[in-house]
Amino acid sequence: MTKCTINSCPGEYEKKHILHTVKYQERVIVIENVPAEVCSVCGDVLLSLSTVEAIEAMLENPGEPVRTAPIYEMPGEAAA
Ligand SMILES: [Zn+2]
Repeated sequence: MTKCTINSCPGEYEKKHILHTVKYQERVIVIENVPAEVCSVCGDVLLSLSTVEAIEAMLENPGEPVRTAPIYEMPGEAAA
């Protein structure tokens, strides 16, 4: 297990599959089942270099999404 890199966080990273959101050319893209290491305490997420490269390659040529999702603004944070 790898110890968390966040200062004074006692957590350790656990291998998980996460929902990863990226903004690409002003579009929000959500990718399911991204392998990541997630801190059990603070939730910090680490992606491996090969995972980041695979995501970047996919963004270049994403094809059709498997599903689409609604996007909401945080209540109270919308531009006035
Ligand atoms: Zn942590």
